[in-house]
Amino acid sequence: MTSLNPIVRRPTRRVMVAHVPVGGGAPVVVQSMTNTDTADIAATTTQTYELWRAGSELVRLTVNTEEAARAVPAIREKLDAQGCNVPLVGDFHFNGHRLIKAVPECAQALAKLRINPGNVGRGAKKDEQFAAMIEAAARYGKAVRIGVNWGSLDQELLARMMDENSRSAAPIETGDVMRHALIASALDSAQRAQELGLGADRIILSCKLSGVQDLVRVYRDLASRCDYALHLGLTEAGMGSKGIVASTAALAVLMQEGIGDTIRVSLTPAPGESRTTEVQVAQEILQTMGLRSFTPLVTACPGCGRTTSTVFQELAQSIQSWLRAQMPVWRGQYPGVETMSVAVMGCVVNGPGESKHANVGISLPGSNETPVAPVYVDGEKTVTLKGERIAEEFQAIVLDYVKRTYGAEEK
Ligand code: SF4
Repeated sequence: MTSLNPIVRRPTRRVMVAHVPVGGGAPVVVQSMTNTDTADIAATTTQTYELWRAGSELVRLTVNTEEAARAVPAIREKLDAQGCNVPLVGDFHFNGHRLIKAVPECAQALAKLRINPGNVGRGAKKDEQFAAMIEAAARYGKAVRIGVNWGSLDQELLARMMDENSRSAAPIETGDVMRHALIASALDSAQRAQELGLGADRIILSCKLSGVQDLVRVYRDLASRCDYALHLGLTEAGMGSKGIVASTAALAVLMQEGIGDTIRVSLTPAPGESRTTEVQVAQEILQTMGLRSFTPLVTACPGCGRTTSTVFQELAQSIQSWLRAQMPVWRGQYPGVETMSVAVMGCVVNGPGESKHANVGISLPGSNETPVAPVYVDGEKTVTLKGERIAEEFQAIVLDYVKRTYGAEEK
């Protein structure tokens, strides 16, 4: 079997988004976006804080009205008061130039402005309004994401490119013209931003589409044509497993090729579902690809006819949830704990082998096996658990391992 090449990150310029480096070899940054009304200061502060606690390293807010723009400095202040220094990104469409002029404190409170060249204005006003946004970013020392979207592609540019294509001696497919138009929109806008005085080290580009193959083609092309830091994401990925699978398929292919400096997984939450799911998925994509570590991962077998009860499913789930819940505290207390691996296996077929490969592993009894659960720590069998309290006792063993291995005093 041939193995995949190791990931070699494509060199890009480094952009500082407040204190968070993006590109230039920095670890791939996880970002997310709130879905609260930004004018609702309390709700937006709470959700931003939750996203940050879940691990979002940048949080984007909609800035669509003057009330929303006025709320941004207050949200920043409240977050700072809670010890949350996550950089905020303002998402502007159509009226951004007016909002920034009316509420300059909004731009000052943000770390990055997101501008969509297709939604910045129409006709003669487009250039002027784009310039107003870029000049504000340059004036306040902010980064800019020039974010082109399939659904809001600059229609004037597209029409011009379609015309040119139809007049050409060898016209290309309409889909190819559209993909070229997306890239041209991003690159032309970035060049214009530089002409207006914004440094290339303040520009991040994105070209988001909702089709996996389209996204891969566009980003490969974009990456070969510039050295701007790139934000990756499949737009309108959808709900549940479809959204997760589609995002993972697209992002994994590109990141394996070293493309992408920051990612967002654009999931539609189910009613009542936490917005933080998109952060967890983004982290899991990066961690399972070996690009970053965030939370100890649990290896669990899928179960089969050899497992007669749900004990091992429940144990795998409770251990994974418990580990994730500990991370906000453990991150500071036990550096390196995020690389720990835990295995929960359903029977003796693969159980002991897989458990030995994990830092801490347990092999539960399958059907017709003696009702005991051997535990392995760093490959050595240490104890055999039995009875009703296997879950609690295993959790205590994991906690003891964390303290001994990653705790400063205990080392
Ligand atoms: S480890 Fe055992 S229970 Fe789990 S899938 Fe394999 S055979 Fe089935």
